[in-house]
Amino acid sequence: MSFNMDKTVDDIIKKIVDKKIELDMKGHFGNREIEDKREIYFIQNRLSRVLIFSGAYSDVIMEKINPIDIIFSEEKREFGTEDCPICGKRVKFYVEGKRIYTETECEYKEGFPEIEVEIDVPSGELVLYNNLRKFFPKTPDRYINYLSEIKLSCEDYAKLGMICIFVGNTCPDIYQVSDTHLIIGNDFSEDENVRNIEGKVVGSICTDLWWYCAVDKDVFEKNAEMTLDEFDKAEEARGVWTRLVRVKVKPGRYKATGRHHLLEEWSEDQTHEIFSEITLIE
Ligand SMILES: [Zn+2]
Repeated sequence: MSFNMDKTVDDIIKKIVDKKIELDMKGHFGNREIEDKREIYFIQNRLSRVLIFSGAYSDVIMEKINPIDIIFSEEKREFGTEDCPICGKRVKFYVEGKRIYTETECEYKEGFPEIEVEIDVPSGELVLYNNLRKFFPKTPDRYINYLSEIKLSCEDYAKLGMICIFVGNTCPDIYQVSDTHLIIGNDFSEDENVRNIEGKVVGSICTDLWWYCAVDKDVFEKNAEMTLDEFDKAEEARGVWTRLVRVKVKPGRYKATGRHHLLEEWSEDQTHEIFSEITLIE
């Protein structure tokens, strides 16, 4: 048997990259150009199925026919389904001629926007920490491998008065730019005199959870039924080395953004990354 599925997959991927086979996802799976196999990994899982169900598998094995000709015949056929990690919808694929395509457009065809939530900070003190979810009522289950569900989860907590934003496994610093503006991010400058994020570092977030939480001091103390100091002592007693980051801000309503998904892929010459900003809106 000399038929080699891996080689067939490689051939198809090369044809897609060279635009000899069109891959039209209509915005699903992100808008990035296909640069390597990772973008179309799911296609590999489909190929053997399509071949087996084509009824010509034995001819392929016998090398009487090129498997690519079987997969990409003029007849329209279903190629399989996959969940789009951007909109969260199940997407159905078809093959027809030299195309792999879907018929429905992704709701986020133009890219997934920055996530925005709002909370009140009437006390003028904002408390930031890795995970404060346990002090809030249970929110709906969200499948956070999808961006659309990450957004919903952010909105769930904002409704309860807490900022809870995805930042990945990044252990970001908290920069206070002014009494109405905070930035959550990382500055990679190794030179003390060169700062790529404005503001003063007032603390950092340990990202065991890959999210950060921020809430008004009074809301925290009411929900947690303890003072900030009592919470810190309890954490110390548990052997946790992190403490609440307390930041004095102008009282009012604040907007928090989530933009982890908008960051460029990591590169060596990256100077900084900003995951979230908290700003006074009224
Ligand atoms: Zn989609």
